[in-house]
Amino acid sequence: MSSGTKYIFVTGGVTSSLGKGIISASLGKLLQARGFTVTIQKFDPYINIDPGTLNPYEHGECYVTDDGAETDLDLGHYERFLNVRTSQANNVTTGRIYNNVITKERKGEYLGKTVQVVPHITDEIKRNMFLLGETGQYDFIITEIGGSVGDIESLPFVEAVRQVRWDLGSNNALVIHLTLIPYLSAAKELKTKPTQHSVKELLSYGIQPDILVCRTEHPLSMEIRKKLALFCNVNLNSVIEAIDADTIYDVPLLMKKEKLDERVLAKLKMTTKHEPDLVQWKIFLGKLKNPLNEVTIGLVGKYVSLPDAYKSIAEAFIHAGSQNDCKVNLKWISSEDIHKDTVETIIGSLDAVLVAPGFGERGLEGKIEAIKYVREHKTPFLGICLGMQCAVVEFARNVLHLDASTTELNPKTKHPVIDMMEEQKKITNKGGTMRLGSYDCKIKKGSKAHHIYGDTLIHERHRHRYEFNNKYLEQIEEAGLKGTGVNPESGLIEIVELKDHPWFVGVQFHPELKSTVLSPHPLFVKFVAAAMEYKGK
Ligand code: GLN
Repeated sequence: MSSGTKYIFVTGGVTSSLGKGIISASLGKLLQARGFTVTIQKFDPYINIDPGTLNPYEHGECYVTDDGAETDLDLGHYERFLNVRTSQANNVTTGRIYNNVITKERKGEYLGKTVQVVPHITDEIKRNMFLLGETGQYDFIITEIGGSVGDIESLPFVEAVRQVRWDLGSNNALVIHLTLIPYLSAAKELKTKPTQHSVKELLSYGIQPDILVCRTEHPLSMEIRKKLALFCNVNLNSVIEAIDADTIYDVPLLMKKEKLDERVLAKLKMTTKHEPDLVQWKIFLGKLKNPLNEVTIGLVGKYVSLPDAYKSIAEAFIHAGSQNDCKVNLKWISSEDIHKDTVETIIGSLDAVLVAPGFGERGLEGKIEAIKYVREHKTPFLGICLGMQCAVVEFARNVLHLDASTTELNPKTKHPVIDMMEEQKKITNKGGTMRLGSYDCKIKKGSKAHHIYGDTLIHERHRHRYEFNNKYLEQIEEAGLKGTGVNPESGLIEIVELKDHPWFVGVQFHPELKSTVLSPHPLFVKFVAAAMEYKGK
């Protein structure tokens, strides 16, 4: 491990969904804003090798990194807050750990020994915990442990944390425990007991948390703080209140007010470089909270009852809205509700429509119907991945009058304008085998995409098996849907845009994955601007 790197572990207790990812990202932001280099990694206790094969209803969006890793959506928060790229090394699951250990065992690398959870699994976890630290690039590695303390699955990770803390000593590693302080409205009281129990549980695994971060709906009184400090053996100033916030982007400021970063630095014996420089962050927040305009944008998708399934898209709109001084109201629309008779009522009053990514779905016809409407009514449209593919199918059907489809929906279609990529046809395993990660895209000069990006070479992240079928390119372009972004090596069409429409863009990649607070994505920024213009007409 790198000698100078400090390790911060974030565990969770009482319940899941307390926002460990946001607390980790907020602490990371504060340390970074003090001039330190920081990265955040997440260890997930489930057995899938990665979340790529998980239904978004199970675990929310699958976040893809530049290096093509399919990862937990918390990595999206890390990137959005820190504006620093993550990679496969930032997300490790139980499945990956066991896979590595079992592969080694098959190679005979354990020299006849019995392979056990301790030390073999825990050693592999520790090896992965140190991977990013060993690069020597970071002052701090924040490691979020998924799940809650007490879950059977997370035990080996908790044991690894105990060992790392022992190995490195308390000047080099610390543990933050995030818990819930529930409010009983009948008694009008905040309750500390669940937190006491959770810390006891952590203690039973040999871990004394250094800092408690307490999620709460009401401010923590001094009395409550003292009680928590006393029963959980933490310093009074290490009981940190994490009160519910209007937006996740408030949390770094709330954590600064509670001095979370100062406590971390003091405990790790780090001298602070300077106070956190949060000027840009505050400008973003100021604009976010004081919008001058408002637009309503429809997000047409399949998993709309679970907004986490489109986390990065929703966040990209927040970044782009702030940039435009505009509040973006997202209207979540289930594609299955859209058909000929309902499209006008559902789409008619919107200022713009985004058709979301997705896989092999029933609601595809609804997406196509929505696109027909926005194409004809000149409503701003952004299609992402499947959304772009639907735009091509819609155009082929309703402008070229072809009996067209994507082979994902209809393998026997007469005109497969969207077809499986050649190299995908031989693949049988589902996990990690799509076209994944960052690829170059050359943009045609003078196109709308060129105007949006202000560049002719861009790099965007992908996650798909199907593509625009180039056999139809000439015919489709002639009729007005232009391929304006192309992968220079494979010739795959990455961007389509409609002539004679104020703003109709489809992209095969996922721009939402690269939008951050300090660097909102140009496609979203310009799309929101187009919605404002459309509304003003
Ligand atoms: N299902 C489509 C494909 O695999 C689109 C994927 C997506 O929207 N991410 O190509």
